[in-house]
Amino acid sequence: MQGLMQDRPLELPHLFHRAEQLFGTKTITTTTANGEVTSTYAEWAQRVRRLATALDDLGVPDDARVATFAWNSQRHLELYFGVPCTGRVLHTLNIRLFQDQLTYIVEHADDRVVFVDRSLLPVLWPMVDGLTSLEHVVVMDDGADAEIPDDPRIRDYEELLAASAPFEGRFTVADENRAAAMCYTSGTTGNPKGVVYSHRSTVLHSIVSLTADNLGLSERDVVLPVVPMFHVNAWGLPYSAVLAGASLVFPGPAMKPEALVRMIEAHRVTFTAGVPTIWMGMVPLLRDHDLSSLRSVIGGGSAIPTTLSESWREAIGLPITQAWGMTETSPLGSSATPRSHHDQFTAEQLVEFRATQGQSVPLVDLRIVDPTTDEEAPWDGESVGELQAAGPWIASAYYGAGVGTDAFTRDGWLRTGDVATIDTYGCVRLVDRTKDLVKSGGEWISSVELENHIMALQGVAEAAVIAKPDEKWDERPVACVVTAEGIELTQDGILDHLRSRVAKWWLPDEVWFVDEIPKTSTGKFSKKTLREELLD
Ligand code: ADP
Repeated sequence: MQGLMQDRPLELPHLFHRAEQLFGTKTITTTTANGEVTSTYAEWAQRVRRLATALDDLGVPDDARVATFAWNSQRHLELYFGVPCTGRVLHTLNIRLFQDQLTYIVEHADDRVVFVDRSLLPVLWPMVDGLTSLEHVVVMDDGADAEIPDDPRIRDYEELLAASAPFEGRFTVADENRAAAMCYTSGTTGNPKGVVYSHRSTVLHSIVSLTADNLGLSERDVVLPVVPMFHVNAWGLPYSAVLAGASLVFPGPAMKPEALVRMIEAHRVTFTAGVPTIWMGMVPLLRDHDLSSLRSVIGGGSAIPTTLSESWREAIGLPITQAWGMTETSPLGSSATPRSHHDQFTAEQLVEFRATQGQSVPLVDLRIVDPTTDEEAPWDGESVGELQAAGPWIASAYYGAGVGTDAFTRDGWLRTGDVATIDTYGCVRLVDRTKDLVKSGGEWISSVELENHIMALQGVAEAAVIAKPDEKWDERPVACVVTAEGIELTQDGILDHLRSRVAKWWLPDEVWFVDEIPKTSTGKFSKKTLREELLD
């Protein structure tokens, strides 16, 4: 017997119309080169309606890819809805990619139009002639003084909107499996791969983001998405915050720690999310500001060093909560919000728990698999295996690549490329990325764990452990360490610190002191670059 419920599509237009009807007075604030601009959801919704007409007037076909090259801003949020609510596909370009990667991505996705912040025009414009699918470059004037070339492809966003009557009535896309947005992986190996989110996957991901044991977003929140809107849809926050009706604060290009702390204080931000390098930069400023409004600081994208989370807890009483995910998982896969059994934990046990990635979120299934036997490994907190994921917002294939790449198992699970343990509570602890593990004498050494211990040493600013080829052992760990300003550390001092904390054969063979750890386009430690720079 079938259920007798209405079969209504899970589509982003619902989020848009709900926000327009219910949350018109809630605010959206954006930092621009000329200071802050605040408007309401009602004003935003009217502009989304104008944008819908403007896309028609530009002649953008109704399932075309529409690219953005932009900071986190209200205008970007207009595109986040105006593009998919009209059936088109939002394609957020990572502004930090190299020219050849961007050219590849724009061509591969067949982007017809790109919406670019004026402050980013000098980065994009030199590439435009090579981007042959692009018909229009729409400039969003964010107050920067970058020169706007005299070229027929260039249009002004505000002029377009002013000339377009607001679309009337309800948006609908009818087919919930239609593409809503796409995002390319950063392509640390080979060419970047396109991940295509559907209306259905995005709606479901947003709903689960709102659940109390996960991001727990509500209408009362003031959300500051620090994670860029070009990085996995700012972890879905633009959609989930709009679904909740939360107020939004967008940093625009103001991504310096001082600016972010000031925004949190001035707007009484309750919820924010970003990669650990952002939270590291803010540590020295935390005690000088009133950040008592914050209820949740989410860290993800790479492991949160224990010392970092502890620095936040000591300074403002709030540790960083880890969430795990990847471009292919929309990204929310697991989150480490404390459960009731953590109430019995000692302070030390809680510190350890915060170094984990937590339980899978509802609707996502996780498993660990032994790569040599292909057997599922037990959830005993000890057995290590490749983390695999399945769920309604987990990619089933890459754009234009068909199925059958080795990123997916025969039974359709995503192979994440992460190596993890899972304990009896289902709590995931990432040991490493497959490509960063150090394989010494047939055994694995976790670079993440070594880094965690090294970063806990007073005077260490950053540390990354990489594998150095070794004739006898195959690979041996080498620690690359950046010391805090004015501090001198020695290799012996660091190894002594590690000796009581890890097995003897885990001790790095060498410690190399470096000026900085290179970062990826999304602000994570780039071990690939480090390996290339230091080992070659
Ligand atoms: P890339 O890092 O290749 O640019 P993603 O942003 O999709 O692409 O990164 C996904 C990867 O980031 C995961 O596979 C995992 O290795 C890492 N990651 C994400 N969240 C966490 C976390 N909380 N702890 C440790 N690693 C994480």
